[in-house]
This record gives sequence, structure tokens and C-alpha cells, in this order.
Amino acid sequence: MFWQVGLAVDAVADPSALLKQTWPLPVTDHPRFVRQLAQLNQVASRLAPDEQWQLRYLDAWEAMYEGQYAKSEVQFRDIIQHSSDSRMADRAAAMLVSQYGITRHYTEAFELANRLAARLPQITDAKVRFMVTLNLSQSLGLAGQTDLAIRYARIAMGAIPAGDGPCYPAASLVVALETGHRLKSGSPELQQALAACPAAKEPVYNANLMLTLADRYVHEGQSHRALALLDRIAPSVEANDYAPNKLSALISRAQALVALGDDDGARKAALAVVAAGKPGDIDDWLKDAYKVLYRIENRQGHAAAALDYYKKYAALDKAYLDDVSARAMAYQTVQQHLLAQKLETEKLGRQNALLRMRQTLDTKKAEANHLYLALLLMALAFAALWMFRLKRSQLRFKKLSHLDGLTAVFNRQHFMGEVDRMLRLLERRAGAACMVFIDLDHFKHINDTHGHAMGDEVLRHIVAVCRKHLRAVDLFGRLGGEEFGILLVECSRGQGVAIAERIRLAIEMAKVESDGVAVGISTSVGLAFTDTSGYDLQRLCKQADAALYRAKRSGRNCVMVDDEGDADRLAAV
Ligand code: GH3
Ligand code: MG
Ligand code: MG
Repeated sequence: MFWQVGLAVDAVADPSALLKQTWPLPVTDHPRFVRQLAQLNQVASRLAPDEQWQLRYLDAWEAMYEGQYAKSEVQFRDIIQHSSDSRMADRAAAMLVSQYGITRHYTEAFELANRLAARLPQITDAKVRFMVTLNLSQSLGLAGQTDLAIRYARIAMGAIPAGDGPCYPAASLVVALETGHRLKSGSPELQQALAACPAAKEPVYNANLMLTLADRYVHEGQSHRALALLDRIAPSVEANDYAPNKLSALISRAQALVALGDDDGARKAALAVVAAGKPGDIDDWLKDAYKVLYRIENRQGHAAAALDYYKKYAALDKAYLDDVSARAMAYQTVQQHLLAQKLETEKLGRQNALLRMRQTLDTKKAEANHLYLALLLMALAFAALWMFRLKRSQLRFKKLSHLDGLTAVFNRQHFMGEVDRMLRLLERRAGAACMVFIDLDHFKHINDTHGHAMGDEVLRHIVAVCRKHLRAVDLFGRLGGEEFGILLVECSRGQGVAIAERIRLAIEMAKVESDGVAVGISTSVGLAFTDTSGYDLQRLCKQADAALYRAKRSGRNCVMVDDEGDADRLAAV
């Protein structure tokens, strides 16, 4: 035996080709498949990684076929989790779903089926998709989800890959209908499936469908038709040597015979089913066999035997019903679990979305707050700056509006206002002040002789000369043209006369030079004093003006005081 395998190994020149050739064998030629699988495992290291996963899949398939479910489960799981080839992973999952159904691991079956169903849209390989869809139909049928099982079978029917025929999906549809108790002997789906699975090409499937039809006849009370059909297909069932079909044929025969009153024939067939059954099986056929036997013994008055069969039947029926409800329960559990998961995920998703939204809002709010604050500060800063500038320019304008444009001393209006204010102050504290009116002599002559510009220059120069003799507290203004006014604050009569005289002298001494021409000028000065004229502006000005007038009349270039004081003429030296 071993040397034969060794010979075979030596003969494998191209493992990849052998693998390809082995693929379709499991169903068509199982013994050859087993031989080639052994050969492939000897040369596995020469296969590419993807091919090695294919080989592992075939190994798992074989283990499952042999009923080594623990081994095949580990192998399928390995492929599902680690295969580099997603097609192999999906195939393995589909097979494992079936296996879990067989081993009654319904929760696992439905969990995996759900995962596969969710993956279905991503499965692009037509063959894998076809297989997955069929297995889903099978597992959903098992779960009692007839509508879904039918739907998946129809999906598979609508997408038959190249190289495959309509037999499997058509047969799956029949199984789904049958499991859901919706199949009748006249159902078109059954006729279509029989046409899709001709005996010559699909002997096992064909026989299986024929047996399904016979079963329907039995349950519809058409026992003769059932027996006729069973007789017709007996040779092919025998030839196929497929155990489930053989048992199915026996139980249908037993049921048909018992219905027709052929107790001996029925008992023989039913006992053959019992003989094939293993203890612990939850078997529909076995249950039906005990039921047939119970009916026979009961009819023949064998009460003890009848009771015995009835107990066995009832136990199996209960187990069968328990199994059906266990499947339904497992399916519902998985669905509820999925629903809960989905809800949880959705809830989490919603919570996350809410959180994200709140965070965004908070950030936005904070940003907005910062922005508002920044804007506010900017606005405030701008307003402050604007106000500062405004104030500054207002002050500048105000100041400018108070000053004489040519000489920058107070203009007449401001001078008079300031003098008035000062007089009020002085009046309150009984201070003394002296009003000085200055008028340049023959100024017109300078304009006429040297031009207006020279006249302006002289005016500016005269102002500068006067300032030298004034204190900060004194008020100085241009009253108009070549006339100026000075209020000497906190100044006695004598001090006032002295200052006025100094100013007059300084002006006389000053020479204004322009374009090489030196121009001199003299001035007439009139004085008035608060101690004689009081603090009334009008009166003080009038007195000063009068004094000035007198100075002019006295020949100019002199200082004259008001009428109240000495009328002495302070003539120029
Ligand atoms: P009096 O000695 O009698 O005061 O003779 P006056 O020429 O100084 O006086 P009058 O009032 O006859 O002439 C004043 C002149 O001052 C007339 C005007 O042209 C001139 N004047 C007035 N304002 C300005 C000015 O801003 N610049 C110049 N250059 N001349 C001015
Ligand atoms: Mg004048
Ligand atoms: Mg003058």
C-alpha cells in the first residue's frame, strides 16, 4: 500500500496541474479524489501558497465527508481566518455552515451564515457565490426560514456559473419548499428540478427528487402511485447505493403499504429502516418507521408491542420537534444577538455622531466666542484708536483754530476769551493784570516798499521779539493786521510799564533781514490796568486802545498808559 503511494508521488511531475484535475472529483469520482489528495499532500511544499490553501480546503472537505467533523472544523476555521485566497475562505465558511447544520451546532451555523450573507455582495467569484448562496438556502431552510431559503435558492438559480447546471439550485428550491411544508406532488418546482437533474447526469439527485415525489404521494393518500414510483426507481436507488436515498425509499414504501393494509410488507420495510438506524439518531425516517410499526402492532391487537413502538416513536418525535425548535431558537438567538449588536452599533454610532457634533459645536462655539471676543477687542481698540485720533485731530484743530495762522499766537477771538477767563480768575483772588496793545508804526510802508512777504516776516519777527519778554502765564494774541495784545498776568502797574517799554525798545532795535535788505520798525504801545480799569474786558480793551491811540497821536514809537494813570508820555529814548 505505502509503496504504491510512493510510486504515485514520484509520478507527480506537475502538482499544480494535479490540483486542478483533483478539484471536480469529490462528487464525480470520490475514490480517485482520495488517491489524488494523498498524492498532493506528499508534494504540498511544491505548490504555491494559494494552491496550498486550496489543498487544505480539499483536505477539510474530505474530513467532513468522512464525518471527522472536529478535524474538518479546525481545518475550515484555519482557512476562514488565515487563507490568502478569499475565495477559499468563503467556500470554507459555506461548508462549515453545512457542517454545523449536520452536527446540530445551530447557533454557530446561523452566526456563520449571517456573516456569509453579509459578505455575499463582496463575493465576486461566480462559483463561490453560487456555492455560498446554496449553502445559505440550506441553512435558512434548516432554521425554518422557508421564505429566505427559497429566496437564496432562486438567487442561485439566477446566477449559475459556467460549468454548473441548474440541478443544485432547482433541487435546493425543492428542499426549501419541502422543509417549509409547501411542496405538493404537483408543484411545478418539483417537475422543474426533475428536468434539471436528469437521471443520466445526476443519478443521486434525480433519485432523491423522485423519492421526494413518492413521499408527497404517500402524504397525499396516493399510496398506489407512490408504490408504482418506488418500484420504478428501485433499480437506480440500489445502483446509487446512497444510504439516505435507500432509507427514504424504504420508509415511503412502509408508509404506502401500511396505508394499503399490507402489514407484512410494511413491517419488513420499516424494520429495515430501524436496522439501519444508529442509537441516539434524531432521525425523521427512524421516527416514521416506529410510527408505521406502532400502527401495525396496534391494528393487530399487540398492545405491548404497540406501546413499545409508540414510546420509541414519541421519544424520537419529541427529539425531532426539540431539534426543530432548537434550530428555530438558535436562529432567533443569533438574529436577536445581531439585532442587539446592530442596535448597539447604531446607538454607539448615534452617540459618537452626537459627541462629534457636540464637540464640533463646542469647538465652533469656542472659536466663535474667541472670534467675537477678538472682533470686540479689535472693534474696541479701533474705536479707541479712532477716538484718540479724532480727539487728537479735534484738539489739533481746536488749537489751530485758536491760533493765528501767520504768527502762531492766539487769534483775536481766542485771546479775548482767554483774557476774559483770566480776568475772572484774577478778580476772584484780586490779582492784578496789565493789558498791552501794540500797533506797528507805518507798517503799510513796509508792505509797500519791501513787499507783503517782507511784511509777514516782520510780523513773525516782532512776535518772536515780544515772546522773549513774556512769561508762560502771560497771554499773547494778534488782534488783527499789525496789532497785538498782551495780558501781563499778576503784574503791577510799574512792572507792566517796564515790560511794555522793554518790548517797545526791543522792537525798535530789531532788524529784519531778507534778501540782503535790513528792515527796521518801531511800535506804539497802549496800556490799561485792572487796578484802574477793573476786570471788565471791554473796559480794559477800550482803555488800552485809547492809550494806544494817544501813543500814535503823540508821534508813535512810545508807550502810553490809560487815562486813569499818569498821562506821562514814555517816549522813546
Ligand atoms: P500807523 O502807523 O498809523 O499804524 O500806520 P500803518 O501803516 O501801520 O497802519 P494802517 O492801518 O494804515 O495799515 C496797516 C497795514 O497793515 C495795512 C495792511 O496792508 C497791512 N497788513 C495787515 N495785515 C497784514 C498781514 O498779515 N501781512 C502784511 N504783510 N501786511 C498786513
Ligand atoms: Mg493798525
Ligand atoms: Mg500800524
